[in-house]
Parts: sequence; structure tokens; C-alpha cells
Amino acid sequence: MKLKRAFLFLLIAILSSLPVQAEIRVDADFPGGNVKVESIDQDANVVCVRPDLRDTPSNYFYFYFRVTGAENRTVTFKFPDKSTNFGAVGPNVSVDGGKTWKYLGEKDYYASGTKFPADQHEFTWTFGPNDSDVRFAFGTPYTQSNWDEFMAQYRAREDVRFETLCRSRLDKRDVELFRVPYLGQGKPRFYLAFTARHHACESSASPVMEGMISFCLSDAPEAQWLRQNAEIVFIPFMDKDGVEDGDQGKNRSPHDHNRDYVQELYPSVKAFKKLIVKESEGIPLVFMDLHAPNIRGGNNEFYYSHGPIEMEKMNPIWNRFRDKLAENQKDGTLKYEPKWDVPGRSDGKYNSIRTFTGKDGNLSSSRVWAQGLPNAYFTNCMEFGYSLCGNATITPVTGRELGRNVMKTLAEILIEDSPKE
Ligand SMILES: [Zn+2]
Repeated sequence: MKLKRAFLFLLIAILSSLPVQAEIRVDADFPGGNVKVESIDQDANVVCVRPDLRDTPSNYFYFYFRVTGAENRTVTFKFPDKSTNFGAVGPNVSVDGGKTWKYLGEKDYYASGTKFPADQHEFTWTFGPNDSDVRFAFGTPYTQSNWDEFMAQYRAREDVRFETLCRSRLDKRDVELFRVPYLGQGKPRFYLAFTARHHACESSASPVMEGMISFCLSDAPEAQWLRQNAEIVFIPFMDKDGVEDGDQGKNRSPHDHNRDYVQELYPSVKAFKKLIVKESEGIPLVFMDLHAPNIRGGNNEFYYSHGPIEMEKMNPIWNRFRDKLAENQKDGTLKYEPKWDVPGRSDGKYNSIRTFTGKDGNLSSSRVWAQGLPNAYFTNCMEFGYSLCGNATITPVTGRELGRNVMKTLAEILIEDSPKE
């Protein structure tokens, strides 16, 4: 009996001295988070997840989740039923709680041009001993905290305004409006409006908008001209709740924010239309809407813009914009190749007026709506690749660089088109 008890104590002592392995946990309980966890096999180190589609009726690819308790394990993440594809450089990984990101396939791509396999629906990650919070995402997440961090440098400036466009769709948050007010006398020559995140998950557009803002507020002569000649507004998050709650946003039911320009289901669309009509009345309007395209392949791996549907009126400006941007961006990290741009059409085919208005004409995108305004001067919709964007990845640095050149290009055109004093 004594021997048995001694053996039992010994066994307990041995077992309790073994390191206890924590349980792998997966969650999306943070701004921008999105995942549906199907299963976690703690013994085999296999996690099955898929994008949480919420009110997106068709398959969509956005996910952003956090893994804790996986230190010292090599874990395979599987997306069953091919529920998502990854971009050309694979899923994005952050080991510092979402502050910095690196695509899983970035090293291979830059070393040999090899892309992450398009038909691969799983990936593996080895967690180090200190990897207590590792995040995985389709693209590079960008939420309110990123915006606040970037805009902090401008808070003290007296020539800008931090305003609110309206309350958000779910009445949970304010929808920001950032204004660079016209400093000249009389009426501005131009009214410039820029929007992003009509489709919540399209985060690669956001660093580009940061770059556009930084150019506007710079000492460059074109920027000074803009501030003396134009009223400029930026709406960084048209679908604010979608961005913060981690929705796909694109194709949300019954229609998404960028098909809402007739029905005005969403307060931000209604408020934006009202603002533009009121403030730009009688002033030539420039409107640019920033997006991200599809997953990968072709022009999805580049920056490209959609040509105007009112082609006769705006094509000459669009073509000048393309030529100048190619010149301004030629030494930039993200290569811009105008051949990827998509010309506008009015014949009912792709990228036509019908694509953006629905077959009954009861839908409309922001760009089609803006083109129809009597004071529309130039309107454009721009797409910035999620992972690869012109042979390099969009990061806060490369996205801002492109954004600065987009704004410089626009300013050059508006300066050319203004009578000289
Ligand atoms: Zn979009």
C-alpha cells in the first residue's frame, strides 16, 4: 500500500513538473477583426477558419484574426471549402499585435518573383516562445486607431478642421470629415472631395489617402496653390461601423455603401451627398473615390483607375491625369502602368453606367452620382491592390508615396486649367 502511494506521489510530481501547454485560441474581438472558427485540433495543431461573411450573401475573402496560446507550436490554418484565396504574396502576419505586418510570401516574391500559390487554401506558421499575440489578415488592416495615429501630427495646425460628417449607420460612432479649408478670397476655384472605405474591408486605399492629405498640407508649391484655390474634404471611412466591426462591407445586403447613391439607406451617403451639393454649388467639383480591387491576378496586382463614363466630357482630363501620374510615380516604389486602367464605357458592358446603377436604375455608385452633378469637373474611382500593388506591397510608406503623387498630379492639372493671374 505504502509503495503504491509512493508511486502515485511520484507520478503526480513528474506530471506537475512537465510544462503545461496552453490552449490555442483564435478570436476576432478587436477593431477590424473577422473570423469564423470551425475547429481547433489542439493535438494536431490544426485550426480551421473561414471569413465571417455576416450580411455579405456571396463568398468574400476578408479575414483578420488573432491567435493566442500557441507559443512554441507550428500550426496549420486551413480554410475549408476554399472559403478564401490569398493574395499574390499570401496572408499577412503581425507578431506585434497589429502594429507592423509582413506577408507570408513576401520574401519568396522579392527573392525570386515566386507568388503564393493561387490554389492554396491553407498556410502554416511557427510560433516563437514569445509569440503570445499573432495576427493574420487578408490584407493590411487599417482602422480608426491608424487614422488617429497618422492625423495626430496635424491636430495642432490652425489651417485644418477635424469635423464630423454624421453618426454612423448603427449609431455607434462618428463618421470623420477632415477639411483643408480654402484660404483665398471670394469663391474657391475648385471643390475637392475624397472618400475611402465605401467598402469596409478595402484597407489598402487608406495609406494612399494619408499620402494625399500629407501632400495637401506640405510646403510643395502645388500644395500651397491648392490651399489658396480649393476647398478640400476627406472622408476616410464611409462605412465606419463596417471598418471597425470588421465587416466585408463589399456587396453587403441589400446593397453596399457604394451602390447607395439613389436609395440613401446609409446616413454617411445621405450626409455626403448633401454636403457636396450644398458646399460645391457653382464650383467645379473634383471627386475621387478610393477602393481596393479583387484578390489577385491582372490589374488586381496594380493601382488602376476606372475611366469616366461621361467619356467626352472627362476623358481628356483622365488621360492627362494618367500621363502625369505615370511621370510623377516613375521613381516610386509602386509601379504605375497606365495599361491596367479600365476605360469607361456607355454601351452596357463592363464598367458601364449600367454596372453602377443596377438594371432598374435604383442603385448608383458615388462616382456615377458625382459625374451627373452639373458642376462635375473630374470624377474618378481608383483601385489599389491589396497585397501586391505594382510589383511591391502597399505599406504605410509606399501607399503614402503613391498618394502624394496622386494629389500632386491632380494639383498640376488644376493649376494648368486655371487662368493665370
Ligand atoms: Zn470597392
